[in-house]
Amino acid sequence: MTHEEATQTTGPTGAQVDGVVERARRAAPAIARLTVGQRCAHLQRLREVVLARREEIIDRVRTETGKSRSDILMSEVFGVLDALAWLEDNAQDALADEKIPTPLTLMDKRSRVWYEPRGVVFVISPWNYPFFQALVPIASAYAAGNAVVYKPSEHTPLEGLVESLLEDAGFAPSHVQVVYGDGAVGSAVIDQRPDQVMFTGSTRTGRKILAQAAQHLIPCELELGGKDPMIVFEDVEIERTVAGAAFGALTATGQSCTSVERLYVHESIHDRFVDALVDHVSRLTQADTPAEDNDLGRMTTDFQVEVVAQHVRDAKDRGATFRTGGDWDGTDPVIPPMVVTDLPEDALMAVEETFGPVIPVFRFSDEDEVVARANDTVYGLTASVWSADLERAERVARALRCGGVSVNNVMATEATPALPFGGLGQSGYGRYKGVHGLRTFCNAKSVILDKDGDKIEANWYPYTGEKYRLFTKMMVANFTDSPLRLARFGVLGTKLEGLAKRSRRP
Ligand code: NAD
Repeated sequence: MTHEEATQTTGPTGAQVDGVVERARRAAPAIARLTVGQRCAHLQRLREVVLARREEIIDRVRTETGKSRSDILMSEVFGVLDALAWLEDNAQDALADEKIPTPLTLMDKRSRVWYEPRGVVFVISPWNYPFFQALVPIASAYAAGNAVVYKPSEHTPLEGLVESLLEDAGFAPSHVQVVYGDGAVGSAVIDQRPDQVMFTGSTRTGRKILAQAAQHLIPCELELGGKDPMIVFEDVEIERTVAGAAFGALTATGQSCTSVERLYVHESIHDRFVDALVDHVSRLTQADTPAEDNDLGRMTTDFQVEVVAQHVRDAKDRGATFRTGGDWDGTDPVIPPMVVTDLPEDALMAVEETFGPVIPVFRFSDEDEVVARANDTVYGLTASVWSADLERAERVARALRCGGVSVNNVMATEATPALPFGGLGQSGYGRYKGVHGLRTFCNAKSVILDKDGDKIEANWYPYTGEKYRLFTKMMVANFTDSPLRLARFGVLGTKLEGLAKRSRRP
């Protein structure tokens, strides 16, 4: 698509793509001048608006994604409210000037970090959580003092909704602008050189965005795909752990970046566990209707149905057993949840992100082996470890190579707005949410504050042999462990200060 065509895809309520970063750049200084408290007051109004308009939001998201109403209520609307409330309560402290200890060699000076806005943040979001992935990055970037340009996925644009909520909350239109369209629109905005790109989406697109941003040296946060493991040891309470596995694998009809995509169960309980999982899954309700008691909905996009179908075909060809859902026709977007066993570990469903309601179950026999198998992936987003032995669970959690681990729970790190969120390897890098995440949207400016006066620093010119010898002695005194370290340093420092007064070569 050409840039012109991309501009034409802009929706009736969307900002024009041409010049969108420039408009944001003009708005940015005014946002930066607001105090964090003033920005948080806007976020508080936004929280009130979201809460008041929650059913309308859920209707819109359900129509466009086909997810179950309760999924949207809990993961998207509740999640957004939680994130906004966290920002209101914590942004002020997280973004406050930070006092840093100043070393002895820089006596009399004060060291600080100032968390300043980057300027214009371009947020690009995927189709699976279109409300959460809109408001949380927008609110975080704004709280840090940035102007925001936001591009939703072309598959779930929720056209006009974000602008309308922001307008009700009193945001100036230029402070957060929304552009609509596909990847070409995103690419056109990156070429306008925003100061940061916050991307959530597939690893494939993440690579392209990084390559394009590299041309302009634009920093990128990349929140990408995953193949998250869940590890179940033999001492767990089976009913609860089965319920956790079903929720972790099937929420959002399996279309979550942190879904359980590989379930490892200790061999001594494997068969019992799988029977209980099959029973649990068989009792779930599923329909593409607005009913509040649907557990699962439909898949959001046809192309994701095709990915799941490809993984299912491959698993069947490789001799896997489908304990549920084996009669799915390969095209119906209401994909039934599938519990799959006897899957070879190099099958597509075992290696690539399936992003659908499948639960491949593998058996394991010991701790080191399961850690090695769980880590044997190009991804590294989140994981969960289940055991009554908390010491063992923590040991395994530490050994897993990923961005977040829940112990005896699932998808719980991402449900905690104070925890940073992000991955390793092909799951991307950077962190958002929590204090780390808020500072992601800042330029951490290092500052030394010194006084005016007649003092000439000892390390400034002119260099002399005498200074050289005194500096050597001071360096040795400073970096040699001794009870007299401070006293020696003080004496030598005073002598050096005396020399420093002679600022010119005679
Ligand atoms: P996608 O990569 O196809 O698209 C994501 C966004 O990028 C869309 O808005 C799309 O229009 C835009 N885009 C595509 N090409 C672009 C380009 N060249 N330049 C700029 N923008 C471009 O991803 P998707 O299919 O929408 O989402 C599903 C993927 O997202 C899954 O892999 C899932 O794991 C991942 N995801 C990750 C997280 C996380 O936080 N780690 C969260 C949700 C989803």
